[in-house]
Formats: sequence, C-alpha cells, structure tokens
Amino acid sequence: MYRVEQLIGGVWGAGGTGGQQTVVDPADGTPVSTVPVATADEVVKAVAAAREAAPGWAATAPADRAAALVRAATAVEAAAEELARATNAEMGKPLDDARGGVAAGIGTLRQYAELGPLRGGRTLHGATDAIDFMTPQPRGVVAVITPWNDPVAVSCGLLGAALVTGNVVLYKPSERTPATGWLLARALDEALPSGVLSLLTGGAEVGAALAGQEVDVVAHVGSTATGRAIAAACARTGAKALLENGGSDPLIVDAGVDPGWAAEQAALGAFANAGQICVAVERLYVHRDLADDFVAALVERAGALRMGPGRDPGTELGPLVDRRHRDHVHGQVTAAVAEGARLRVGGTLPAGPGAFYPATVVTGCTDEMALVRQETFGPVAPVVVVDSFGEALKRAARSPYGLAATVLTASMGHAQRAWRELPVGTVKVNAVFGGAPGGAAQPRRGSGQGFGYGPELLDELTTTKAVHLEPPTPTW
Ligand code: NAD
Repeated sequence: MYRVEQLIGGVWGAGGTGGQQTVVDPADGTPVSTVPVATADEVVKAVAAAREAAPGWAATAPADRAAALVRAATAVEAAAEELARATNAEMGKPLDDARGGVAAGIGTLRQYAELGPLRGGRTLHGATDAIDFMTPQPRGVVAVITPWNDPVAVSCGLLGAALVTGNVVLYKPSERTPATGWLLARALDEALPSGVLSLLTGGAEVGAALAGQEVDVVAHVGSTATGRAIAAACARTGAKALLENGGSDPLIVDAGVDPGWAAEQAALGAFANAGQICVAVERLYVHRDLADDFVAALVERAGALRMGPGRDPGTELGPLVDRRHRDHVHGQVTAAVAEGARLRVGGTLPAGPGAFYPATVVTGCTDEMALVRQETFGPVAPVVVVDSFGEALKRAARSPYGLAATVLTASMGHAQRAWRELPVGTVKVNAVFGGAPGGAAQPRRGSGQGFGYGPELLDELTTTKAVHLEPPTPTW
C-alpha cells in the first residue's frame, strides 16, 4: 500500500488536512494507495512558498538547471520499475505498456535537458552603437495539473519543460494515480533545489483551488470540460492557460487498402490502453468497397484480445480506470444500440471483480450518436460506412474536437487532401500511432490550446523580453 505525502515549501508530509482518499486497483478492487487531500488554505500557502522559491531558480544558469534535470531523469530511471508497477496498480495499464510510458517520460526529461540551455533570441541593430535583443525568461510559477491515462509520460513532459526553462512548479497529479505522481515527484525532488517542485494531492476541488490562484501558467492535460473551467479561472486571474484536452479522433479507411492491415491498425488505435488514450481512434469512416472484409477482420481481432490485470506479459487489454468510467463507456454503447447500431462483438459487462470491458465493435453508427460524436475513452470501435473519400473527410471534420486524425490510403492525392483539409492538430497517414521523438502537437477547438509537447512547449513556458541597449551619452 502506497502512503502518499504532499510536498509544500520543500517539506515532505506537509498539510493534507482536507481528508484522505483511497485508490483501489481497477483489476480487483483492492486498496492500492492512501492519499491526503490539500485544503484550499494549503494550496494558497503552497503557491506563496513557490513564489518565494521562484527568483532563485530563475537566476540559476540554464546549463545548471539542465544538469539538475539530467540528474532528475537518472533518479526517475532508478524508480522506473516502481513507477510502472504503481501505474498498473492504480489505473490498470498493462505492466509492459506502463514501462513504456515511464521510459517515454525519462526520454522526454533528457530531451528537454538538452534543449533547454540552447534557447536564445533574435538580435537587431538600430543605430550602429545600439543593440536590441529578445531573450526568453521563465514565466514564474507554473501549476501542472495532469490526468491518469499515461501518468508518467504526460507529467514528465510538462514538468521537464517547465523546470528547465526556470519556472517553479506546483504539481497536482490525478486523484486516480496519486502514488504514481508521488513517486515521480520524489525522484525529481532528489535532484532539484528545495522548494522548486511542490506536490499537491486530492481531486477536482484541489485542482480548481490551484487553477484559481494567481500563478503565471496553468498547464492542464485532461478532459475538455475541465479545460474550459480552467480557462475561465485563468481569465479571472490573468494566468496563461495551456490546455491539452479530449478528442474524438477519426480513422478514415480508404478504398484500395488491404482490409486485414487496416483492421490491425484500427484495433491498435481503438483498443490500446483500453481506448484510454487522448489520440485513440474514436470513430471509423470506412469505404463501402471494403467495409465487410474490414469489419470481419476487426471483429476477429477484437474477440482475440487477451484481457487481464496486465501483470503478465501476454495481456493486451487491461481494465478501465474504474467502474464509474466503465458505466460511461457502456452507457454510450447501449445508447447507440438503442438508436439502431448493431453490436458485432463485445458490448457486455463481464462478470467478476474490477472494471474490465471487452473490445467492442459496433456497426451501423451515425454521426449523431454520442458514441461517435463525444469522447468515449474506452475500447470501442464505432464504424460508419461511407461511399467516397470526400464524404469521409467531410464527416470526419464535423466534430467539436480537433486533436488528431488518421487516414489509411494508398493514394498520395488522398493523403495530401487529408492533411490539408482536416481541422486537427495532427494528421497521421498509414499509421495510427508513431511520430518522431520530440514531435509537437497543437490541438484545436474543444481539444485545447497551445503546444503541449515538443520543443514548442519550451516556448509556451517562457516569455520573451525585448531589450534595447544604447551606450551612455558619450562624454568624449
Ligand atoms: P480530468 O480533466 O477530469 O482530470 C485531469 C486533472 O484535472 C486531474 O488532476 C483532476 O483532479 C484535475 N481537475 C478536475 N477538475 C478540475 C477543475 N475544475 N479545475 C482544475 N483541475 C481539475 O481528466 P482525466 O479524466 O483525468 O483524463 C482523461 C482526459 O484527458 C481525456 O479527455 C483525455 O482525452 C485527456 N487527455 C488529453 C491529452 C492530450 O494531450 N490532449 C493527453 C492525455 C489525456
């Protein structure tokens, strides 16, 4: 059992008088972690302590901040197996996937440590003896509020980028994965000056209290509804809101591709991490020419996935994060069926403990169904059959979200049309996942605002100062 502690003003074990929460394993309901809840007063004190620590860290040489981040990455690496096991126990991600998430997080910390000190600005000359330069400066105090679905990878990106650019950070991990957040903060704190990183724990109310403070940036990865509440809070305080939120990513399957290969891609996109990935495939527009063969292959793949707690290497489908979330996923599936969709595999609640949900394929879906229109965040593939690539593009574009989209096509012309026309931050052609290390993404509409990844995140977390320098009035 993990006993989580907060870190406020450089003191582990501080506060937490707002009560205590227990996290249970979504595979079997056994208690995994106990976590203190921050009071609103503790949040205020944590922000004040962070403000005190900010000037010292901002004045630390960029190379020294980067060196600290390298040491922090090494400390996270030493805790990697423990972090992966905590992730698996708290939110159900199969252990191998959880290890992958931790490795990705360590890689991101190292990448930001390398990129941080290389940042500079433009210089201009006005009069011959005058110089203007623009230099990046830390924004100050950054609140980092994160979700549970890939807790280490997502947190390391925001924490690494904020810290290496000279900001102090108040970190509020998800209430579903607090021990994972605590282990990560412990490792990072080993390598950082006291007070540069704080850890606040608890649920939405703690996140809301933090987002309502006069911090300089609130960086949130999580649901669209939360992102909107944070944007409203930031509008009141003047803090910058950086939001990486939900999605309902389409997968377009064009005529002329191999249906078996397309079904493998679809299964990976819709069922990996039990569909709990921001860029999971949430709706499928499949050309009529291959729809039958594609659906048959996808149904077979879905039915063959090995479901389990994910502690042995063969598990492909872990549980959903909790039963409340399972009710949401199942609710969307049953509503779609009630509206005329056809269940092809899955779609029933398994007996037994935990929050397991089978890989599910539903055909005969329409764009109006909540299963298609809203974010499901579960292992469900709703199929819509289309008559042309143009129709698929048009329907894929009609969404309140704008995160990412994938197109499977053998036509270069269709690939070019897709990346130009789809109103999303990322377009992937012929692979549902992947992308070069360091890739950035800029979500649109309900999916958020600002770059949450890549070198561009370093720009988001710094502000630029313009300086005009002239020599003193000459006395010669
Ligand atoms: P969530 O927004 O409910 O919670 C995320 C964090 O926000 C938690 O720490 C939570 O306590 C906090 N929070 C909740 N209400 C708050 C409020 N009113 N004010 C301030 N903080 C508040 O999201 P979740 O359920 O943990 O995560 C799943 C969501 O995250 C999905 O929508 C998924 O698409 C999204 N996500 C997006 C990305 C991306 O890069 N775009 C990556 C991962 C997950």
